[in-house]
Amino acid sequence: MSISKNLNNIKSELPKNVTLVAVSKTKPVADLMEAYDAGQRIFGENKIQEMTDKWEVMPKDIEWHMIGHVQTNKVKYMAPYVSLIHGVDSLKLLQEINKQAAKNNRVIDCLLQVYIAEEESKFGLDEQELDEMLKQVQHDKDNFKNIRIVGLMGMATFTENQNQIEKEFKHLKTIFDNLITRTDAINRVSTENIDMKILSMGMSGDYQLAISCGSTMVRIGSSIFGSR
Ligand SMILES: *Cc1c(COP(=O)(O)O)cnc(C)c1O
Repeated sequence: MSISKNLNNIKSELPKNVTLVAVSKTKPVADLMEAYDAGQRIFGENKIQEMTDKWEVMPKDIEWHMIGHVQTNKVKYMAPYVSLIHGVDSLKLLQEINKQAAKNNRVIDCLLQVYIAEEESKFGLDEQELDEMLKQVQHDKDNFKNIRIVGLMGMATFTENQNQIEKEFKHLKTIFDNLITRTDAINRVSTENIDMKILSMGMSGDYQLAISCGSTMVRIGSSIFGSR
């Protein structure tokens, strides 16, 4: 199957409210261009250097999403152009994103990564850390003028057990819904830099399940571009 056929098949089954991020990590620019020519404008990468190399040579109407773990000292390389950072999991990282965004006169959208898997290897915040981070951003909003928290991201356990994956996705959706109720209340009083609207969950193997659990953004790589 060609990339454009894969892409069109997936797009045809996504509900209207679900955004597709085409995860193009490790793939050559020619492959990305095939997806671009088929209409795809949002690409996800997990390494800042690789994403920047691709950004430099590809059309400028592409939205670049950083979906991988971000090292603080590399934020500066993507700050001029990145449109959404999915994996924000510490206040220190958020402060650096804010600083680099300010240097570029930008506001950078971020998702907070929440730990939902039963694995030691996945990054992310637990619920208490998430709470503390949001409180900090609300409390100290003058120091976070160049970031906007627009939602949450999570990755389920790498397992064949659909029940477990479903349980984890539903858990994240519950956290997300609870926050929306609360941030609505808070927003009426103050904050412009928190606007919970995106729930990024679901990859090639589990995106249908993620969507049925309330995902609004799926990150799909191998089902579009082939295995890596
Ligand atoms: C690689 C990656 C994906 C895409 O994985 P596929 O199984 O190829 O669809 C999604 N999200 C993150 C965070 C990734 O690193």
